[in-house]
Amino acid sequence: MKPVRVTLIPGDGIGPEVTAAAAHVIERAGARIVWDVQLGGKAALDKVGNPVPDALLASIKKNRVALKGPLETSVGHGYRSINVTLRKYFDLYANLRPVRTLPGIATSFSDVDLVVVRENTEDLYSGIEHQVAPGVVESVKVITARASRRIAHFAFEFATREKRKTVTAIHKANIMKLSDGLFLACARQEASRYPKIKYRELIVDNACMQLVLRPQEFDVLLLENLYGDIVSDLCAGLVGGLGVVAGANLGARVAIFEAVHGTAPDIAGQNAANPLAVIFSGIMMLRHIGETRAAARLDRAVGRFLEEGKVRTRDLGGRATTRACAERIAALL
Ligand code: NAD
Repeated sequence: MKPVRVTLIPGDGIGPEVTAAAAHVIERAGARIVWDVQLGGKAALDKVGNPVPDALLASIKKNRVALKGPLETSVGHGYRSINVTLRKYFDLYANLRPVRTLPGIATSFSDVDLVVVRENTEDLYSGIEHQVAPGVVESVKVITARASRRIAHFAFEFATREKRKTVTAIHKANIMKLSDGLFLACARQEASRYPKIKYRELIVDNACMQLVLRPQEFDVLLLENLYGDIVSDLCAGLVGGLGVVAGANLGARVAIFEAVHGTAPDIAGQNAANPLAVIFSGIMMLRHIGETRAAARLDRAVGRFLEEGKVRTRDLGGRATTRACAERIAALL
């Protein structure tokens, strides 16, 4: 089999550290991959004056699969989020985030095994904001039947394929009757085509409470973009934090795999970040490109690494470096 070309975007902040660790263990797992390394985000802005260089877009377009570190977006001003730009450019409409209790990581919850399915292209992320009058601004929430049906279809297909039992649509249709109402109507319509999958609905605030009381009762969560963003971080907190939760942005042609976490500026450059989230994203990527044996090997090695519990980054209560984690996983491979 010919090696697969994968666009590797080191990203900003802790991105270069955690993606280097992930690339190292993916190679050691025996995956036949050629990395096509591309700059994006602040790193690209500083070097070539453009946070989304044409070379980056061309590389992803050609390779159709990427492993990406987090990209910095300034708060309240500056250029538009590069993540949002990439998701819209490649129409990566589904954001998939599996959240499960991991061996050897002590948290307040056990037996969590849920998947967040987040719509990735619209909602309040449309970027349409304007000042109506001094001191008054509007931010436009865009919900379409097309995108809502498409993400609901994705959630039910995923649930069927992965033998999941329940899809829970999470909304605020009691307040946003038109927009979230449309999202729910589409979810219900799709649910009626999957009689074997149980369908339920929860208002987002109640869903947050239920998630921290009884996370074990959740299976597949179906959310619009903003609720999905917030609930993803909440769910990461149930199983050990942002350092251990993977993600995938999926479209009809292109897939970009990335951790849920951001650039973690508070620990960037210290060799202290947890590389597991990007490594788990890398395992999802290996399965996506058909490198199932390398994926299984790496998954087993990470499982043993976690059970062993000798090497831990600070977020998991240890003192180990990013590199030490990668080296230990590589040794277990
Ligand atoms: P963050 O996820 O970067 O950090 C939140 C907290 O979690 C911090 O305390 C950080 O140290 C910790 N953390 C995150 N990842 C970790 C890891 N791998 N190991 C150990 N600890 C980890 O969120 P933030 O501070 O709100 O955002 C910082 C920047 O990241 C912003 O510019 C934001 O726009 C960007 N961001 C990018 C993405 C992405 O590229 N997909 C996602 C979220 C945020």
